[in-house]
Amino acid sequence: MSWEEKVRKADPYVAGEQPKDPTFIKLNTNECPYPPAPGVSRALARLAGEREYARNRLYPDMDAAKLVDALAAKYGVEPEQIFVGVGSDDVLAMSFLTFFTNGSPVLFPDITYSFYDVWASLFRIPYVKVPLSEDFAIDPEDYLPSGQLSSFLPAGTEAGGIIFPNPNAPTGLAMPADQVERIIEANRDCVVIVDEAYVDFGADSVLPLTQKYDNLLVVQTFSKSRAMAGARIGFAVGSRKLIQYLKNVKFSFNSYTMNMEAIEIGTAAVEDDAYFRKITARIIRTRENFKRELRAMGFTFPDSRTNFVFAKPPADRMSAREMFGRLRGKHILVRYFDKPRIDGYLRITIGTDEQMDAVVQAMKEILA
Ligand code: PMP
Repeated sequence: MSWEEKVRKADPYVAGEQPKDPTFIKLNTNECPYPPAPGVSRALARLAGEREYARNRLYPDMDAAKLVDALAAKYGVEPEQIFVGVGSDDVLAMSFLTFFTNGSPVLFPDITYSFYDVWASLFRIPYVKVPLSEDFAIDPEDYLPSGQLSSFLPAGTEAGGIIFPNPNAPTGLAMPADQVERIIEANRDCVVIVDEAYVDFGADSVLPLTQKYDNLLVVQTFSKSRAMAGARIGFAVGSRKLIQYLKNVKFSFNSYTMNMEAIEIGTAAVEDDAYFRKITARIIRTRENFKRELRAMGFTFPDSRTNFVFAKPPADRMSAREMFGRLRGKHILVRYFDKPRIDGYLRITIGTDEQMDAVVQAMKEILA
């Protein structure tokens, strides 16, 4: 056998384009258009001072205790209930490895964050994609053993785990907390992960339910609502037992993942709750205005509770693919997925009011 036959072949996740040209209006990777909290800038200035800078010769605190304590205080849980990582992608990857490599199939929606099947394939986890309803909603019945769950599972198997984002991506639709709880309550024999990457833009968080269900893991990120995609910080909240299992795998993989700067600036961001509330409220307001403009132009879209809108151009006028290309020609980048069921839609990140005005103007010109 050749060495190439002995190599693991992975099919990597494809991220949105990161243009080098700064004149692009970049609305394709759900970043925040505002800077991080002012405390982050102050922390960076402090870290640039000679004494602080010299700390880089040392390994960082592998428990990231400062950041964990700040998150525990903010969310009213014990520090032992928090796990932090290099973006929520890192937290999610470790979670797949810890909770889902049990041999039984993991369930997630057919239209969802496209990293889930990448991790499942990488870790050789069997998985089942549960179709969303016609209107792109997750139907909780599909995940209940007393409902449709068994119809999705191969005969004789039970669920090895469940994961879905709430709100879902790229649809933007949120499920109310009581519906999410139905899924968790009915699946006490596997770990249920709720990926709340976008929850701060107006959806219900089930983070408080981690006190009630020891098999629930809630994952969040600093990349969207805390305007820190570049710092790579994500975290998970769960029962002490669940978090301990996750840490044991993480510390069997790579102990020192979060660097000193990330720990310090992440802490500064968590401590400024007023700024966090201000920018999330602003993005929600801009989103609702943008929805009105889209509607007026004849676009249709699920009612997003995130920092993006998943919108279908007026079908008789233009395809999503063409609109994507035409916007790109005007130096406006949005996301287009060439996949069944969603190839008629564009995922458009909510930027500043000025950026959204420019998008609306460009769309009007394109449709004229
Ligand atoms: N979950 C979902 C649903 C996402 O859309 C993203 C952003 N691509 C992530 C997790 C990961 O974000 P990050 O690694 O930046 O925290």
